[in-house]
Amino acid sequence: MKILIIEDEMKLAGLLQKGLAENGFTVDLCYDGQEGLHMAQNYPYDAILLDLMLPDMDGITILQALRARENDVPVLVVTARGEIEERVIGLDSGADDYIAKPFDLAELMARLRAAIRRSKGKPSPLIAVADLSIDTNAKTVSRAGRAITLSAREYALLEYLALNSGRVVSRAEMIEHIYETQYEWDSNVIDVYINYLRNKIDKGFSPPLLHTVRGAGYILRGQ
Ligand code: CA
Repeated sequence: MKILIIEDEMKLAGLLQKGLAENGFTVDLCYDGQEGLHMAQNYPYDAILLDLMLPDMDGITILQALRARENDVPVLVVTARGEIEERVIGLDSGADDYIAKPFDLAELMARLRAAIRRSKGKPSPLIAVADLSIDTNAKTVSRAGRAITLSAREYALLEYLALNSGRVVSRAEMIEHIYETQYEWDSNVIDVYINYLRNKIDKGFSPPLLHTVRGAGYILRGQ
């Protein structure tokens, strides 16, 4: 899951980036509003963490600009403590949720995960594809009751495919959602990880769940 953080307090932004990255999120970081709006409009994020008080363009203006262009990316606004009015304006401007400073990282991540799940039409943290089961909170995977150990990157890829199960996902889309934007594009890397994943989630099980769609990408589906 790829998150854009728009936050001008560099220390806080850095801590957030580190905390989210350690918990399996891919993070792009922006310190100013203009750049943040540009990034949000031009790259596909799974959610945006948006500070409201920014020096050049405030968070509400960014949010309104995104929604005016029918960009429905989930947005979690970060408000000052006790500013109920800010929360109301944020929600009324199209934010999906808010969190007040100072916040707890675990709560922030839980709100982000919930907003992302809702946006994908999968409100439950447990995703099942046939007998494959993914717990997106614990980040654990099992198939037919057997625990499967995945690397962080393998898990990120599987989680993205599972949140979009039943739909073909291109290699480019996978790269956009599990690598930072500055990452050098090499779609072969996706094929390598798909092979690793197949060996772990399909090998020795029936039927296969991870399918190649020639010329289009990959799909995770039960039948
Ligand atoms: Ca700020």
